[in-house]
Amino acid sequence: MRHSVVDYVDIVGEEVIVSIYKLAGRLYNRSIVHINSTYYGGGVAEMLSSLIPLLNDVGISAGWRILKGSPDFFEITKKFHNSLQGDPINLSENKKRLYLQTNEDFASYTHIDHDLVIVHDPQPLPLIKFYHKKEPWIWRCHVDLSNPDQDLWNFLKRFIIRYESVIVSSEDYKKSDLPVEQRIFFPVIDPLSPKNRDISQSTIDSHLRKFKIPTDKPILVQISRFDKWKDPLGVLDIYEKVRQEVDCRLILCGSMASDDPEGWQIYQKVLNKAKSYIEQGDVILITAENHVLVNVLQRIAAVIIQKSLKEGFGLTVTEGLWKGKPVVASRVGGIPLQIEDGQTGYLLDPYDHDGFANRIIQLLTNPELGAELGRRGKEVVREKFLITRLLIDYLNLMDEMINRCGG
Ligand code: UDP
Repeated sequence: MRHSVVDYVDIVGEEVIVSIYKLAGRLYNRSIVHINSTYYGGGVAEMLSSLIPLLNDVGISAGWRILKGSPDFFEITKKFHNSLQGDPINLSENKKRLYLQTNEDFASYTHIDHDLVIVHDPQPLPLIKFYHKKEPWIWRCHVDLSNPDQDLWNFLKRFIIRYESVIVSSEDYKKSDLPVEQRIFFPVIDPLSPKNRDISQSTIDSHLRKFKIPTDKPILVQISRFDKWKDPLGVLDIYEKVRQEVDCRLILCGSMASDDPEGWQIYQKVLNKAKSYIEQGDVILITAENHVLVNVLQRIAAVIIQKSLKEGFGLTVTEGLWKGKPVVASRVGGIPLQIEDGQTGYLLDPYDHDGFANRIIQLLTNPELGAELGRRGKEVVREKFLITRLLIDYLNLMDEMINRCGG
């Protein structure tokens, strides 16, 4: 269902809605286009599918173009993605050629006639080289750039320096060797999306039945891909410690991309380690991709865990806080931007399993404490991490780039 900005009034208040319309009023007849490489799957596509209709709703002409590429192209850009986050890469001429050729082909049949162009992530980054540039272009990078492979970074920089500005998700991702203006947009969630909107008890019940989840004991939940950096084995270790004190269940939910062999390997390890608990029905592993189910799990959880060893922003934390739940999480990546320890949740060293277990036990034995942390956490999300804030960020950016630059 498409939403209008006004639909958010009960969530963010009238003043925010009025400020959005006021900003948009400076931009009527102006246009913006977002370019990324997928309609579906992943946080970027999810965010664009909420954002772009809202931009149009307030009178901006906002378009969305998707870069087309072959499986080989996406294999290469997946390697680029990993290598921007520190993995080594063999940056061959072949890889560079296919990367550029795909972008050049796309440019040859994709017209861009907008006042502002936003290019998301590395896949369409070189497009800028293949256009006669007559408007500001911004590169919105959602990837952790703190430790990139240097060869790849130097190669990509040739394109990045053509842009007016770069947007990253965290102060840590700003690059000191990049003489282009860099700004930060924190990621957001859409409170009206299937993953976050209020849901009825009958929706909750039907999902619990379908996924065979009993609710006779308190439930701990971690929603995360089966990935070594999300440390599901560590979560199991913590669960074992907790259940020595308080009887409870653990649900690990991580949808599985069929082309991710590493995910299945980690899943198998978790399965082996948790075998006896799984047989008892006390540990439940879920690999379905189902946004309403994520919503349900976050709402039935007594405590939400995010025990990442490394994290980008950690949208699962945002989602958990938005459900008013106590979140016990690692002090890594963007998580400390969202949780103030002891005020809106608990932060721990990711290797401090005893610390995690103690906080969880404390919350299980004192639900009122958890409810209070959750109430406060939800207000932080309301103020800083909802889609309406991102809409304001983009309207301000358009205003600055188009109106103030005399475009
Ligand atoms: N997610 C989901 N189903 C799952 C596991 C994760 O829909 O089984 C979603 C989750 O709700 C969140 C996103 O995937 O919106 C993960 O974002 P996050 O920033 O937490 O971690 P990432 O996977 O990007 O490292």
